[in-house]
Amino acid sequence: MHGRGHLPPGAMQLSPTIRQSIIAILEREELSARVLAEDLALTPAEVESHLEHVRRSLKNRLQVTPAQCRDCGYWFKKRTRLDAPGRCPACRSQRVDGPWFRVSGRTRTG
Ligand SMILES: [Zn+2]
Repeated sequence: MHGRGHLPPGAMQLSPTIRQSIIAILEREELSARVLAEDLALTPAEVESHLEHVRRSLKNRLQVTPAQCRDCGYWFKKRTRLDAPGRCPACRSQRVDGPWFRVSGRTRTG
């Protein structure tokens, strides 16, 4: 049995669409838009706009872990937008991590 292996770093730009690259990456690991942007040489805003499309096409397969304040631990649970919050409403810290994204495995039977 031969797996398809993973794309070498330079192959990302040559893959059919950025969106498919994003999905492939998020199937393997959970990442924030900021890290994804670095991996794909895009801006976080570009990644977020791609993620909106990914969410629309994959629906529940795109799983979002809410952003969290690094200083007080506040979770941005009610937030539905995919971009990173700028500031914590609880302690006003700007050290906010996430949100993080993950694509769950393909639909299994049983
Ligand atoms: Zn806070």
